[in-house]
Amino acid sequence: MSQENIRILVVEDEIKVASFVKLGLEENGYSCEIAYDGLMGKRMFDAENYDLIILDLNLPYKNGFELCREIRYTNQKIPIIMLTALGTTEDKLSGFDSGADDYLVKPFEFRELLARIRSLLKRIAIAETEDNVLKLLDLEVNLNTYEVNRGERRIDLTQKEFALLVYLLQNKGKVLSRADIAEKVWDINFDTGTNIIDVYVNFLRKKIDKDFTQKLIHTQTGVGYIIKA
Ligand code: CA
Repeated sequence: MSQENIRILVVEDEIKVASFVKLGLEENGYSCEIAYDGLMGKRMFDAENYDLIILDLNLPYKNGFELCREIRYTNQKIPIIMLTALGTTEDKLSGFDSGADDYLVKPFEFRELLARIRSLLKRIAIAETEDNVLKLLDLEVNLNTYEVNRGERRIDLTQKEFALLVYLLQNKGKVLSRADIAEKVWDINFDTGTNIIDVYVNFLRKKIDKDFTQKLIHTQTGVGYIIKA
């Protein structure tokens, strides 16, 4: 995610604060939109895709706690930074309780806000990378980019081979029957008497195992296949 594609929603009714935040974010390469009250914030959140939300606590029509809770109802992942003029522990706790990730007391320095934003976005990026790469020994499958590598070597797979490999890896260490594979990868009933699974497992073996000493895909005679180190 490059910085200029990062969209931040600022929900803040104080025009001066909102403009100051927007200006600073844009100077730092972020794209930024402002909602001037809680209802408008909710509408914009529902209509658009944002990567992070900066949410004032005291807002007309719907306060920051309420809005934060509503956002969390449909989206648990988006980072939310709460802003408030009141710095009491109680507010801070309520903020976290309603689902905010971080908290900043007004008046704050812009660079402090920037540091919090960077840290939250980084945390998200790391979590997404970890979620989306399947690994076994030196084999790596990236579910975002569809890249498959074994050691230093890049491996090109067809769509079905890729789907089969992902299914095996998601169940690594577990024997999968041909019927399981047929149902999950091909969406067909294995009773149709096809050997398509064996054929594809062999295609896959040629690409990910053939030239390597350590084989990953193993046949469990009479049962099915298993991927393991
Ligand atoms: Ca306010």
